[in-house]
Amino acid sequence: MSLEKFSLDEKTAVVTGGSRGIGKAIALQLAKAGANVLLTYARSSEAAEEVVHQIESAGRKAKALKADAVDFAQAEKVIATAQKEFSGIDILVNNAGITRDTLIMRMSEEQWDEVIRTNLKSVFNYSKAVIRPMMKARAGSIINISSVVGISGNAGQTNYSASKAGIIGFSKSLAKEVASRNIRVNVIAPGYISTEMTGQLDESILKSIEAQIPLKRAGESDEVANSVVFLASDASSYLTGAVLTVDGGMAM
Ligand code: NDP
Repeated sequence: MSLEKFSLDEKTAVVTGGSRGIGKAIALQLAKAGANVLLTYARSSEAAEEVVHQIESAGRKAKALKADAVDFAQAEKVIATAQKEFSGIDILVNNAGITRDTLIMRMSEEQWDEVIRTNLKSVFNYSKAVIRPMMKARAGSIINISSVVGISGNAGQTNYSASKAGIIGFSKSLAKEVASRNIRVNVIAPGYISTEMTGQLDESILKSIEAQIPLKRAGESDEVANSVVFLASDASSYLTGAVLTVDGGMAM
């Protein structure tokens, strides 16, 4: 087997929410594999600039843009910048996401809307913005970060799991629409990964989640990022519409 197929040399990647957590690991791993990376963030400009610095130190091009993933016009601007300053767009990773967990009895309309807009509408925004240039190039890889909760559900996360299940349906439909243009659309459904998002959980809840994971531990952001590199590269050239669970066996 040739490892060349895993190389992302000369490719341009856009990663939404690349300032922290899983998105940061994705941006860094894509760059390690050879890609130039444009990452977006909502608030953490310092953290985002640190990711840019790390990528540039490794000899790749990088840029961070403050862009609310909820806003379609901002998504269009990000993709236009990637095309102009990075000469094209080969890889899109829709990673930006939030939680607003509570039981439906207590969930406000605002908590529902915020999660659906941030996690699901953002995927439409960036996919729509990127699809024309990818169709023109007759090549592209779109990777959408869902969650195992979008497959199995979770009490206290009706908003979040609806958004993550929505990503799976969206991705399969889009995969069918654009396969003839050599654009692949795949989903990664992480299980429980140690980041600031999951850091909000109580120690006792974390212990009980870990006990239910066949591999008996939380995953690391890098373990999700490795799968993103695979799906971004030609090594996964026959995968589209797939949902890859990166979850230590949690969803089995
Ligand atoms: P974090 O909270 O650690 O990071 C979230 C990232 O998304 C940050 O870069 C943040 O930017 C960005 N972001 C949030 N809202 C917006 C917005 N409106 N516009 C642009 N960027 C935004 O989350 P994780 O790294 O844990 O999660 C990343 C993805 O992985 C999410 O989609 C999440 O649902 C998914 N996931 C996570 C799991 C886990 O266990 N951690 C499990 C399954 C899925 P800023 O820094 O500026 O706030």
